[in-house]
Amino acid sequence: MLIVPEREIAGLMTRGAAFDAVEQVFAAMARGDAWNFPVVREALGHEEALYGFKGGFDRAGRVLGLKAGGYWPHNLERRGLINHQSAVFLFDPDSGRPTAMVGGNLLTALRTAAASSVSIRHLAREDAKVLGMIGAGHQATFQLRAAVEQRDFEKVIGWNYHPEMLPSIEGVAAEAGLPFEAVELPGMAEADVIITITSAFAPSLMADHVSEGTHIACMGTDTKGKQEVEAALLARAKVFTDEVAQSISIGEAQHAVAAGLISEADITPIGAVINGTHPGRRTAEEITLFDGTGVGLQDLAVAARVVDLAVAQGVAIEVDF
Ligand code: NAD
Repeated sequence: MLIVPEREIAGLMTRGAAFDAVEQVFAAMARGDAWNFPVVREALGHEEALYGFKGGFDRAGRVLGLKAGGYWPHNLERRGLINHQSAVFLFDPDSGRPTAMVGGNLLTALRTAAASSVSIRHLAREDAKVLGMIGAGHQATFQLRAAVEQRDFEKVIGWNYHPEMLPSIEGVAAEAGLPFEAVELPGMAEADVIITITSAFAPSLMADHVSEGTHIACMGTDTKGKQEVEAALLARAKVFTDEVAQSISIGEAQHAVAAGLISEADITPIGAVINGTHPGRRTAEEITLFDGTGVGLQDLAVAARVVDLAVAQGVAIEVDF
């Protein structure tokens, strides 16, 4: 069995490799070659922690396993550790033997950013110039770094519930050589692409804050009750997702479906666009919305890639298990 510790991930995984791994597994899911297992997420009643498992099997890529982890809200103040903690475990699909244990913290941010990036590549207008960011926390910086590589953006605009956090994404925009402007929410009408990546339980982005032709990647809503955008926006948009079952239960679409504004049949897996079995964006005026709920197969895909890279570079630790 191989171990790839968290400290090695930054030196091994690239945004490009994460993008390719996530794009391929979304495509495999839409073909029926890969599927996710039901998500387990439990409140531990200890340290106010949420803990759970996201697993799946990619028959095409021969990747089987799970990510175990969750959120410990007091880690930073009490232990100097980040609050999100996870590890990925991979198994040989032929025998069930464990093959690898991989640090999952950085990989989670990279695979989540890769998902919105895949949606931008396949659904945003080619001439998109203004990128809007809603959210400025840990994930937002990864999201922004990945998104700016997808189109010739000329400017980044941003809004955050806690405006004092905006300098973190302004810094990433500056690294990419892009000007940054803080805006009020109606100012998002200037954006051609909008990423929402917050932990909100009430909508910030309203349907009338968005212009025709915009692509929106809703990345923060991954739990029942969370919400970042007005449900009416999903009715105005063509909705895509990583996985329909998660989209309607724990994703952004949960609210629009519950309100009867859209139905499950209105939501298209992004893998169908990648595979060419769905046209994706049909017109320059259409609003497209990607509901990125985060699936276990994304974690397994990037973990499997990192194991290959670790072996190639001689940094995987082999243990007799
Ligand atoms: P974080 O704690 O670092 O940042 C939270 C962000 O949400 C900040 O921008 C904060 O200002 C904003 N926020 C907090 N309360 C708000 C409110 N009431 N209204 C609007 N905005 C508010 O968290 P993070 O690590 O950046 O994660 C952000 C979200 O992304 C979380 O909900 C997390 O669960 C989710 N997430 C999703 C995936 C996925 O695959 N879809 C993966 C990882 C994280």
